[in-house]
Amino acid sequence: MRDLTTAYIGLGANLGDACAAVLQAVQDIAALDCVVLTRQSSLYASAPVDSHGPDYVNAVVEVQTRLRAHELLAQLQAIETRAGRLRPYRNAPRTLDLDILLFGDTRMDSPELMLPHPRMAQRAFVLVPLAEIAPQAVAAGQMQAVQGQTIRKLDA
Ligand code: AMP
Repeated sequence: MRDLTTAYIGLGANLGDACAAVLQAVQDIAALDCVVLTRQSSLYASAPVDSHGPDYVNAVVEVQTRLRAHELLAQLQAIETRAGRLRPYRNAPRTLDLDILLFGDTRMDSPELMLPHPRMAQRAFVLVPLAEIAPQAVAAGQMQAVQGQTIRKLDA
């Protein structure tokens, strides 16, 4: 039996009912085989970064999994596809975006999977919800670096 790994997944959506899309994705992640959902951040709204369209709804979840990182990514991509995600061009508005932010202390640098996620440290919409459920995963200096970015917690 493989060891359990603690992983953090970033969720974002900005088309259609983005809150519903993110909440449905949390349920879909919780329902995956070999994955246990252990923490879930609040929902946040943030202005698009390197993208356009309506504000994004973002959240971060913590899971414990016996999957390997690339197996988890494949499962997340299947959830994105089921949510109707199209990829017409890079950074297009999307119904659902799922990123593996951290996978234990795995470091990986292939185009299919980079860990930790290469852009997480520049994005308030990742760091703020991540710090809510895993303060130890975000350094104070990282949080200061994204202070200028607008993000607000949505009512529960
Ligand atoms: P995006 O359009 O932002 O969802 O990017 C998806 C692409 O990024 C896919 O081709 C993934 O294989 C790749 N990718 C690389 N690292 C990661 C990661 N840590 N989490 C999710 N996708 C990743």
